[in-house]
Amino acid sequence: MRYHVMALAGLLVTSQAQAAPDPTVHYSLKPVLTDGQLTAVEFDMRFQATQAQTEVDLPDRWARGKDYYKGLKDIEITGATAVSIPANRPAQRILTAAPGAEITVRYHVDANLKAGEEAPIATDMTYPVVGPNRFYILGESVWSTVAGTDERPVTFSADMPAGWAFASNLQDLTSLHGNDSDVAESILVGGTDLHIESIQTSHTRLRIASAGRFDFTLADFTDRTERIIATEQAFWNDGQPSFLVTLAPISPEPGHMSSHGEGRPGAFAIMTVPDAPLETVTFSLAHEYFHSWNPEKLGQTESGADEALSYWFSEGFTDYYGRKLAFKAGVVSLEQFIAEWNEALDRYANSPHRTAPNTELRDHQWADETWHKIAYDRGSILAAYLNAEWRTKGVTLDRFIHTLRDKVAADPGLAAMPTEQRVASVAAGLGVPASEELARFIDRGEAITLPEDAFGGCIRVIMKTVPDVDYGFDLKTFHDTHIFRGVKPDSPAYTAGLRDGMAFLTFKDKDSSDSSMPATFEVRDTDGKTQTITYLPQGKTSHVRQQLMVPAGLTADQAKACAAAITS
Ligand SMILES: [Zn+2]
Repeated sequence: MRYHVMALAGLLVTSQAQAAPDPTVHYSLKPVLTDGQLTAVEFDMRFQATQAQTEVDLPDRWARGKDYYKGLKDIEITGATAVSIPANRPAQRILTAAPGAEITVRYHVDANLKAGEEAPIATDMTYPVVGPNRFYILGESVWSTVAGTDERPVTFSADMPAGWAFASNLQDLTSLHGNDSDVAESILVGGTDLHIESIQTSHTRLRIASAGRFDFTLADFTDRTERIIATEQAFWNDGQPSFLVTLAPISPEPGHMSSHGEGRPGAFAIMTVPDAPLETVTFSLAHEYFHSWNPEKLGQTESGADEALSYWFSEGFTDYYGRKLAFKAGVVSLEQFIAEWNEALDRYANSPHRTAPNTELRDHQWADETWHKIAYDRGSILAAYLNAEWRTKGVTLDRFIHTLRDKVAADPGLAAMPTEQRVASVAAGLGVPASEELARFIDRGEAITLPEDAFGGCIRVIMKTVPDVDYGFDLKTFHDTHIFRGVKPDSPAYTAGLRDGMAFLTFKDKDSSDSSMPATFEVRDTDGKTQTITYLPQGKTSHVRQQLMVPAGLTADQAKACAAAITS
């Protein structure tokens, strides 16, 4: 405290200044209650200035969200002799303060939900959700950081009112990086109705923090989560000391099936509509938990915009293993495993960017979902392709990825290589050179065709000619007005009873890009009567795609042997 006063008075004496300023940044948060209701969450950052000018970055933008600093109220900065906002950089503050001066940056974020409301679908986890009894916040949207090249050590505390529970990955900084990158990538959940379950697996103290109501039971969700985590830890024979899964609701909206998952250091955050099928959440959890190793322990990813150059590996191989290990964990059936793969193969076959070079994928990464997804699908299909090819030489993809983990841990030079080069180097060391395949399928974007026995066991990868998806009405008018127009008289939609002028009420199944899956709408006809219309959204043109299938009539023993082959 004395130090603080002296710095403020500009009297920093040499004898006091001998100890170098402490680089640690102390973060804390506190719910603000009015008449027992949460009206705001207060955020506080405290640190010592290490040089005459310090730049503080207020939360600004992140993958899907932006302008977070505009939501911060009553920004108060103490301990500096001057604070300025640079021209054209409204999210930054330049602080003038003697080295060693104690700086505090404080502000709050106001409640944005009323009693009984849940987060709207549009949230997409891009802004803080603050209701009367609960908050659900990703760190990117609220925390400020001290700019500079060095990552600073951090501490974290939360000051909860009586009767409130709180969960965050920041509660166990020792198992994270322990620096300000963790704070940006935090999940912060608190509330009066937050339920926290704590389970000890062989490697990890697993906490599941959930609030709100869902169609699935919490016991079922917890069981699946635990089995996925245990299976992936067994796969790697490794696991971090603690892991947090958070689950919070999005308010249901007719016609939308929405689930969002965000991987965080030492945590996975899920927001979902109450009627989301547990399988969707399960695959997503298996994918996200696999990120604890890929890319976390498999070498550095490219930095900045170039990070997307490695998505075929960090996301695609993670999709491959997420599906495989979810199946191995026994939380999805063989049918669900096959359906998940077929959805990916179908998306890939239909993708307008199927043969785009990897640099184009990088350049358009956030342009839209089709650009974003292609690296995932290309990567997971390549993983299956390489596994099949290498297996003939006695090397499985599992052996490759375990070797990669071990070699990266032992060799910083390998860890720092570009992803493609690193993968090729480890593969070559195992006697399965891969640079030619990587140049073809990743760099140049040539289409990948899986061999028939790529998945082993009884699963066959077959070629199928399938009709292109055509809903048979004008999609643009439909999206803009929710009224069906331009229904083609020779379409399956018309045959099923759909007519111009009908009003859309709800979807009865998920929006699909697969023409073999029925589209079912509830509509109101022009007489005001409600009807259900079901048809296959098949157009007159077609495309060829690969798909997984299992021969009909397998005995139980055959099915079991088949399953074992997929996961071996
Ligand atoms: Zn991912």
